[in-house]
Amino acid sequence: MFSWALEQRKRGRAVVFVPTMGCLHQGHLSLVRRAGGLGDRVVVSIYVNPAQFGKKEDFRGYPRDLQRDARLLEKEKVDVLFAPKNLYGKGACVTADPGPMGDVLCGRSRPGHFRGVATVVLKLFNIIRPDAAVFGRKDAQQFAILDKMVSDFNLPVKMVAAPVVREKDGLAMSSRNVYLSPAERKKAPSLHGALKAVSLAYKKGERRAARVLKKASRIAEGDLEYLEAVDRRTLLPVPRLKAGVLVAGAMRLGRTRLIDNIIL
Ligand code: AMP
Repeated sequence: MFSWALEQRKRGRAVVFVPTMGCLHQGHLSLVRRAGGLGDRVVVSIYVNPAQFGKKEDFRGYPRDLQRDARLLEKEKVDVLFAPKNLYGKGACVTADPGPMGDVLCGRSRPGHFRGVATVVLKLFNIIRPDAAVFGRKDAQQFAILDKMVSDFNLPVKMVAAPVVREKDGLAMSSRNVYLSPAERKKAPSLHGALKAVSLAYKKGERRAARVLKKASRIAEGDLEYLEAVDRRTLLPVPRLKAGVLVAGAMRLGRTRLIDNIIL
């Protein structure tokens, strides 16, 4: 992989990278298509990264279907599918720590998750040497942290964020949606419903974040972990709503944890 990347560089070809954990859906494919329009070569990685799963999380049960994923990618403009079995050498212990940005929002219930994400993306960047990388806005906290990592570590990668792709009823597409029972599936779009309620109140002129978020929380039909309004770059809470603010939420339905967000 590494020598291929160096060869592309030598030939002056722009490499665009899309990291994923597989079990691909239209959300992932939208990133791949975006990548195709940004450079000369597209690399997609599929790697279920053990370092970003907590001990009690779904690493073992995470949906995997490499053959199906490869077939889907064959229909897209993809030059390389990079699907390593293992990325960590024995005794690997140095990590990329996102600091306080990794402790808020999803980081509260998933300690260490974003360190695992930042570490694997840094490794993948070093292996693939992309000129640009495309990520989904669905994982807004992930994007903010990786964007900050690129800036803090002076990484020569252009970071591109692509819009959230949703089902017709508003549910954000996710590999984990396959876990939902039919009854849970019906309740799942209510997380997006809560976010839309915040957006609507904002459009009507409401600016008091705490008040709006409290009211919108009632719309969520699962166990709401959080619903917050934050600065989309620093992830710090904002007391007043304004254009560009990130409103993000996480909700549990049975064993499935859903996340979603909108930008005002
Ligand atoms: P994952 O395989 O879940 O790690 O996601 C790989 C990439 O796809 C990340 O950049 C995600 O933000 C992005 N992604 C996942 N779901 C969606 C979606 N519904 N819309 C847009 N991007 C998504």
